[in-house]
Amino acid sequence: MQAQTYYAATAPRMRFAPLAGAADVEVAILGGGFAGLATARGLQERGVHSVAVLEAQTIGHGASGRNGGFVFGGYSRDAADLVSDLGLVAAREFYAHSREAVALIRSRIHTHGIACDKVEGGALWLNWFRHSARAERQLRGQARWLRENLGVVWDEMAPAEVRQWLDSARYGGALLERDAFHFHPLKYALGLARVIEQAGGRVHEHSAVTAIDKADNGGFVLRTAQDVAIRAAQVVVAGGGYLTQLLPALTNARLPIATYVIATEPLPEHLRPIRTAAALYDNRFAFDYYRMLADHRLLWGGRISIQEREPARIAALLKADMLKVYPQLAGVRIEHAWSGLMSYARHKMPQVGQLTPGLWFAQAFGGHGVAPTTAAGEWLADAISGRAGLPAGLQRYGLTPVFGQAGLLAAQATYSWAELQDALKEFVT
Ligand SMILES: Cc1cc2nc3c(=O)[nH]c(=O)nc-3n(C[C@H](O)[C@H](O)[C@H](O)COP(=O)(O)OP(=O)(O)OC[C@H]3O[C@@H](n4cnc5c(N)ncnc54)[C@H](O)[C@@H]3O)c2cc1C
Repeated sequence: MQAQTYYAATAPRMRFAPLAGAADVEVAILGGGFAGLATARGLQERGVHSVAVLEAQTIGHGASGRNGGFVFGGYSRDAADLVSDLGLVAAREFYAHSREAVALIRSRIHTHGIACDKVEGGALWLNWFRHSARAERQLRGQARWLRENLGVVWDEMAPAEVRQWLDSARYGGALLERDAFHFHPLKYALGLARVIEQAGGRVHEHSAVTAIDKADNGGFVLRTAQDVAIRAAQVVVAGGGYLTQLLPALTNARLPIATYVIATEPLPEHLRPIRTAAALYDNRFAFDYYRMLADHRLLWGGRISIQEREPARIAALLKADMLKVYPQLAGVRIEHAWSGLMSYARHKMPQVGQLTPGLWFAQAFGGHGVAPTTAAGEWLADAISGRAGLPAGLQRYGLTPVFGQAGLLAAQATYSWAELQDALKEFVT
């Protein structure tokens, strides 16, 4: 079994030179994940061409190049909570931003011909609690609520229809978000980085930012681990769950939380259990997320934890989860296993704003960040280029403290509690 992610093993080799000599740009961006890349591209699309992305490791090294590959609407925070936080009108607008981001990713892939194994199959949200009439009613209630409040249409599927698509007796009915798609996230990240570079932007790998200081005559100076300086009028910090103590105001406001993924060997035709192009997940708090890959492997993700684990342990844990749904795959080999760090705020919404004039940040996209990072890139590009201020609703979701290790332990306890609730719900219904 390989510790390398499936994505790293199958992406083209693309390298971006480290920052080697002093430079001067309009906007310097820390972090070569989706948040950093989307901001850089958004700026270029608004005529700000002098941008530099500085990545400590390689492009997509963080969550952006290791995730499930689901590109769908919404945020980590429940849509119903958005409505109670912001009111219906602002929540609808906010939700719409995430759906526009899905469309923007799609159009960037198309416009720039980014080869990233995109599959237009939607996302299928499955009812795990198949014996519960109440859970089935809740699923349909959710579809009605989304339609009536947010104007979003998810198709309802009966249990029998689900059974036609999946060789598993595990689920009841489902809701299909047709507008969603899935892709190879690392190929997309690398492709977008190349687009930024070809449009005149700088993209530097192995260029960890170790200091951000105010420059004497305005703007900022960023220093990298190789002690090279880059000057910038404005800075965006987008280090996700991988940012270390560079800016405590940011790291103290989000928890780095791990989640795990495996990929099987390519499945022979008679063992392929899924006859839909959709990406799949279920309605537990601690849900599985999975999809078929272009080469007939099954990619399977799940669990959240405060620790990153060894690949062999991840493979064992997630294979056991997979067999709860598809026991017929017992003899299948797991060829890749990896973990990734998400960054979570206590309110489970992205944190996007300005620490001091000209020093911007975008973090805490949680486990639902592919579209929201792109939305954040648009908000920041509008704000930095002077086109529009940040959406007012963002102020509701500030840099709330997470209390370090105690916060991590509390998050793990909440997750274990939710797992127990899921188990009980299954048991009593
Ligand atoms: C396993 C996994 C599965 C997921 N599945 C999905 C999914 O299917 N769909 C979905 O919508 N979301 C999913 N998510 C969430 C989504 O991937 C993230 O929310 C999103 O990618 C976050 O992007 P980011 O740019 O904020 O952070 P990251 O992608 O983590 O990027 C941050 C980057 O900053 C760099 N960095 C940190 N510090 C420095 C520094 N000092 N100098 C320079 N660079 C630095 C890091 O090396 C890293 O590359 C998943 C996440 C994980 C981990």
